Amino acid sequence: MPAIVGRGGAWFAGLGGGRGTKLFGLSGHVRRPGLVEMELGCTLRTLLETLGGGTPSGRPLRAVVLGGPSGSVVHPRQLDEPLVPRGPVNPGTGGVAALDATASVADAVRTLLAFNTRESCGKCTPCREGTARLLARLDGPVDGAEIASLAEVIQAASLCGLGQAAPASVLSGLAEFPGEFGLS
Ligand code: SF4
Repeated sequence: MPAIVGRGGAWFAGLGGGRGTKLFGLSGHVRRPGLVEMELGCTLRTLLETLGGGTPSGRPLRAVVLGGPSGSVVHPRQLDEPLVPRGPVNPGTGGVAALDATASVADAVRTLLAFNTRESCGKCTPCREGTARLLARLDGPVDGAEIASLAEVIQAASLCGLGQAAPASVLSGLAEFPGEFGLS
C-alpha cells in the first residue's frame, strides 16, 4: 500500500504487464521458504532459485506442485515459462512447493488428491464418490484412460470448484511423469 500511495495507481497498474502482482508461498525443498510478492509473468526459476535459494541439498528439482491441492504438477522444463493466469503454467493460488530429485511425484499426487477427498463436503456424487474412486485407482496398476475418463466426469459434473479442480494434480502428474505411475 505505501508503494502504491507513493508511486501512484498508474505505476501499480502497469506491473506484470498490466496484470499486477501476486503473492507466492514458497515451500518444500527450497532453501528460503516463505511468502514473496512478485509481478505476474515471473518464472518458477526466479521464485525458486533467485528468491528461494534453490534446494537445500543442491539436488536438482524433480517437479513443482503449483497452485496447492487443486493445482498442477509442473515439470522442470517449464521453469522458465512466465506465470500468468490461463497461460501454459498457471500460478493458481500461488502455492509453490518444490520437490527435489529424491521426491516421489506419485506420492505427492496421492497426498494432494487425498486432501481434496477429505475436504469434499459430500453434497454432490461426482466429487464425493469420484475423488475417492480416483484415489483408489492410483494404487495398483494405473489405467490412464480410465483415470482420464473418471477425472472428466468429476471436473464436469461437480458443483463447486473443489470437485472441479480436484483431479488437476492427477492429470498433470500422469501427463508429465507417466513413468512414476507405471505408464510409458
Ligand atoms: S464439488 Fe463442492 S459441493 Fe460438490 S461435494 Fe465437492 S465440495 Fe461439496
